[in-house]
Amino acid sequence: MDKKIAVIGGDGIGPEIISQAQRVLEKIASLYGHRFTYEEVEMGGCAVDRYQDPLPGEMLRRCLEADSVLMGAVGGPKWNGLPGDLRPEKGLLRLRGAMKVYSNNRPAKIWPQLAGASPLKEEIVSRGIDLMIVRELTGGLYFGEHTTKQEPEPQAVDVMSYHEYEIERICRIGFETARKRRGRLCSVDKSNVLDTSRLWKKIVHRISEEYPDVELTDMLVDNCAMQLVKDPSQFDVIVTENMFGDILSDEASMITGSIGMIPSSSLGDGTRGLYEPIHGSAPDIAGQDRANPIGTILSAAMMLRYSFNMAKEADAIERAVGAFLDDGYRTEDIMSEGMRQVGCSRCGELILERLE
Ligand code: NAD
Repeated sequence: MDKKIAVIGGDGIGPEIISQAQRVLEKIASLYGHRFTYEEVEMGGCAVDRYQDPLPGEMLRRCLEADSVLMGAVGGPKWNGLPGDLRPEKGLLRLRGAMKVYSNNRPAKIWPQLAGASPLKEEIVSRGIDLMIVRELTGGLYFGEHTTKQEPEPQAVDVMSYHEYEIERICRIGFETARKRRGRLCSVDKSNVLDTSRLWKKIVHRISEEYPDVELTDMLVDNCAMQLVKDPSQFDVIVTENMFGDILSDEASMITGSIGMIPSSSLGDGTRGLYEPIHGSAPDIAGQDRANPIGTILSAAMMLRYSFNMAKEADAIERAVGAFLDDGYRTEDIMSEGMRQVGCSRCGELILERLE
């Protein structure tokens, strides 16, 4: 298969981690007979320095013309004092808007080799944790009307609104994702209180008739927050609205114990997606070959699985990461006693050697 990938190194550790992910993609291409071509995209602080614009039009065009976008991270203290439009994150927000991605998908997986890093008890972790949170990204409370008035007394109002089509399209991503995983979808809402949740529940059940191979359950958001720490092994895919997803996905990342290991995708209609690790540009360790590139390498694996329909290639990358950990290698952020510490590029090399 031929695929064009827009690659955004970005700032801080971004270029270091992205180049390891590209090496992995190249090896996959040669092992499985694909051809990946790359469009380099300058976005973030580096683009501000060069073009006085965090996402120049030409760079955006390259992203929109690609089959998918793979990104490292953007931002850093150097650009903190700049006015709003020149801030590196503005480039990322513009890119998400232009790509019309309305679904943010974050897996939370505990690698058995790193179980000790989880703040949860061993007896819970040993049951295995491997779930995905599909969060609605462009609607709900964060995008409703916000008003504050002072008279007759100070009052603030935030409006939570969902149209049927917004619920329908995110729920479809939930079902499609569950179909590519273990076939179980948990829809999280607050239908005992909120009208938006009651509409959500009605729609998700209607759509479920089109997905008889996916088992659908419902859970109230407060219960879900508890169940994530009590027994996260019960979940496969969770689909939920924007604010609930914001909170639950951070909770789920926390239980895995390592920010450097977690990938993410943002999807809209069609197959093109934006793939990036959940961490930032880590300016404190940038340029020192100390970053963990695994979150980015696993983001590349997600891109193969969800945008390019290359499941066995994605499995191969995940197996190679598992083998790297099995063999006792660790980057600094996940280092523990008795293990062998390696830098960013050596980590990429060792994963490459384990790819088959
Ligand atoms: P951060 O995620 O960059 O770093 C937090 C801590 O985790 C740091 O100690 C860092 O060294 C460590 N860390 C992060 N990723 C790591 C990795 N792959 N390997 C090893 N250690 C890693 O968060 P921050 O310090 O709050 O933000 C730094 C910059 O990144 C800010 O400018 C912020 O705006 C930006 N940011 C960008 C994105 C993005 O591009 N999507 C996301 C979050 C933050």
